[in-house]
Amino acid sequence: MQEIRIELSKTLKQKPADNELRFGRMFTDHMFLMNYDLGQGWHDPRIVPYGPIELEPSAMCLHYGQEVFEGLKAYRTADGSINLFRPDKNMARLNVSNERLCIPAIDEEFCVEAIKTLVNVEKDWIPSSEGTSLYIRPFIFAVDPMIGVHPAHHLIFCIICCPVGAYYPEGLDPVKIYVEQNYVRAVKGGMGFTKTAGNYAASLKAQDEAEQQSYTQVLWLDGVHRKYIEEVGTMNVFFVIDDEIVTPSLQGSILSGITRMSTIELLKSWGYKVSERQLSIDEVAQAYDEGRLKESFGTGTAAVISPIGELKWGDKVMHINNGEIGEISQKLYDNLTGIQWGKIDDPFGWIVKV
Ligand SMILES: *Cc1c(COP(=O)(O)O)cnc(C)c1O
Repeated sequence: MQEIRIELSKTLKQKPADNELRFGRMFTDHMFLMNYDLGQGWHDPRIVPYGPIELEPSAMCLHYGQEVFEGLKAYRTADGSINLFRPDKNMARLNVSNERLCIPAIDEEFCVEAIKTLVNVEKDWIPSSEGTSLYIRPFIFAVDPMIGVHPAHHLIFCIICCPVGAYYPEGLDPVKIYVEQNYVRAVKGGMGFTKTAGNYAASLKAQDEAEQQSYTQVLWLDGVHRKYIEEVGTMNVFFVIDDEIVTPSLQGSILSGITRMSTIELLKSWGYKVSERQLSIDEVAQAYDEGRLKESFGTGTAAVISPIGELKWGDKVMHINNGEIGEISQKLYDNLTGIQWGKIDDPFGWIVKV
């Protein structure tokens, strides 16, 4: 394995108080960098003071969006140790994104080590109040100074970190979501299954309109039939219909969430019937009308489990579980966060200690 050079910052920032933490605003003192150059491969891994990166205005990523990213967290446990949650899955998914965007593969094991090394350098930045964590953002972007359209020969892998507050300071709070009928996020054959900037650029307009109508996020339907449920803004989505827990199958247009994967494994271990299948919005609306739609929730690293209290589809407004948190949502939230913060046993071996 390559040696990671560490250059510590001479001046350290003032850390915010735990109750002042806001998502993605303040970054720690250091970052990880590594370069790719054709013929050399990935080289020169290093941890350096956090700061601006110099780019040519012609840098390819600025023009054609050849960029991929990941998102995971480091959790401070009661005994002061530091947990990562399935970081190997994040690095494996990064390589899935890389492959689709013609970005050279990374060494997954080495990159998990890089994350651990950076988190260890920044350990004093990991907050310890209930529900707080250190968000870790690995990303790769193309820097060839050239505006011809073709895959880059020069790229940068960077990892930055920011301390984040509790997503639900007052306990789980159900969100309002509406079903997007004008815009689509991705289609099969596109990049929907990758974590790449372009998917988010495609989603901004819908997100903006949803916020103007005081909805939190949109529920995307498939781009071809405009009928089958895909996912919510930054989350995968589940519906409890009768005794079946349904989530859309991975068919190339939605992201394979690590929280989704863990949710399915947990539910199955508890004996629930979980189906990954096509699910139309009509089926959800019909189940609602017949009183068979019991719960719905989103899954993602940021909120872990996000109960959906209201779902609007055209003129139809569905109040799911009276706008309250469902039993399954609460149980999943308690168990996933319990494992992440080391409060309960980790029977699956999901935790990686820093
Ligand atoms: C990151 C992301 C998710 C959630 O994935 P996790 O690995 O569970 O955090 C879901 N959908 C999209 C579009 C995402 O970018």
